[in-house]
Amino acid sequence: MEKFDSIVVGAGPAGSAAAYVMAKAGLQVLVLERGKYPGAKNMWGGAFFGPVMEKLFPDFWKDAPVERSVSRHAISLLTEHDSLSIDFKSERFEKNHGFIVLRAKFDQWLARKAEQAGAIIATGLEADDLLYEEGCVAGVKVGSETFPANAVILADGVNSLLAAKAGLRKEYSAHDVKQGVKEVIKLPREVIENRFGLKGDEGAALEFIGSCTRGIPGGGFVYTNRDSLSVGLVVQLSSTVEHQTKASDLLEDFKNHPLIREYIRGGETVEYSAHLIPVTGMKILPQFAKDGIMIIGDAAGLVLGTGLILEGANFAMASGIAAAEAVIKAREAGNFTKAALGHYETLLRQGFVLNELETFKKAPEFLENERIYGAYPELACALALKAFENDGSLRTGTFKAMRESMKGKISLWHLLTDALKAKGAL
Ligand SMILES: Cc1cc2nc3c(=O)[nH]c(=O)nc-3n(C[C@H](O)[C@H](O)[C@H](O)COP(=O)(O)OP(=O)(O)OC[C@H]3O[C@@H](n4cnc5c(N)ncnc54)[C@H](O)[C@@H]3O)c2cc1C
Repeated sequence: MEKFDSIVVGAGPAGSAAAYVMAKAGLQVLVLERGKYPGAKNMWGGAFFGPVMEKLFPDFWKDAPVERSVSRHAISLLTEHDSLSIDFKSERFEKNHGFIVLRAKFDQWLARKAEQAGAIIATGLEADDLLYEEGCVAGVKVGSETFPANAVILADGVNSLLAAKAGLRKEYSAHDVKQGVKEVIKLPREVIENRFGLKGDEGAALEFIGSCTRGIPGGGFVYTNRDSLSVGLVVQLSSTVEHQTKASDLLEDFKNHPLIREYIRGGETVEYSAHLIPVTGMKILPQFAKDGIMIIGDAAGLVLGTGLILEGANFAMASGIAAAEAVIKAREAGNFTKAALGHYETLLRQGFVLNELETFKKAPEFLENERIYGAYPELACALALKAFENDGSLRTGTFKAMRESMKGKISLWHLLTDALKAKGAL
């Protein structure tokens, strides 16, 4: 069998970006995707920022299956009955600032771009083992079939079985991953635009913290598609086990919150999906390259979670581009050893991927503080109620009102130490 320059395992954003860059440079590239088509098995919330896509495909939004471009971001603190929001809408956002997409359409589009550049996309094939030659990775196996290649790129997502087989990283524990659950809820386009204050292709990305996760680290989201909403939750998997709660039950609670209930009123759920996310920051980095093999995207744990944003797609694609550039350089030198492919990690360190993970390296630990999801939303909403309600009694000063609202719920010591930790982490 022909030896490929590179085999990419997985046609998600990471794998297709890598395949596109290598194929465009004239390399022989094979992408193996276990789904019936790219995106068939994939899900996410759906909002991502534009710069990496723009670099690969200038003006991509004119052609790509984009649902809406994000013109409104909001974050809301929820208690059982209340919500307190910071809502930001701007006409100053560039057209390519951020987008909302559905994976089934988007992944197919991206894989098609790689195919048009010359890569072979083979679907319905699950790579289940690695091929070795003299101790170096030299391809992959699919059942009894072997596919030889000079460089294998693992882009097979959070559950990467081949990463463990290659000894690139250890398996994640429940503490290292978040569980995401999501429903796509169908609603007429004009209803969405009226409810969310949007016009034309404008879209809203709304995030929620508080009672929706019953104190479990994580949060909810509502993203506006063209004629549906993506409504979901992301929660710390180990905490759902400790709290003996299921993410699917939390999602039901979330949908029943007065604020969310109004957004989804009259809608019909047409899709339900669940997936894990590795949000470990710099704590668990893999070995990025070994002889003949590299690891990218979620398989490498390259996801940024700051509490305000969860960004995986750009990190996946940027890591795919960096790995592809390393393979192109290795091919020129005719050397696919760990030392040669190590150029990939150098590029990750020069670019935003490892720099931003480094900037927010304390965020994953800080965001495990359960007060962020219980006591603080309660305190903020209690203060808002005091500020906006006139029950006929004498008003007190803001600081006194705050101390009264904190009584029995949160100590001044916790408030101060948490504020200091937030400064260091965020
Ligand atoms: C609920 C939720 C919400 C999210 N929201 C956002 C968001 O709003 N914005 C954002 O930027 N990120 C978000 N993310 C994260 C984002 O989805 C990921 O970071 C991103 O998809 C990673 O891309 P990837 O290509 O590395 O992996 P994946 O998208 O997981 O793709 C892996 C691919 O490999 C294939 N595969 C797996 N094993 C094999 C095998 N053995 N052989 C062949 N093929 C294989 C899979 O079928 C899949 O197509 C969210 C994730 C979840 C779960």
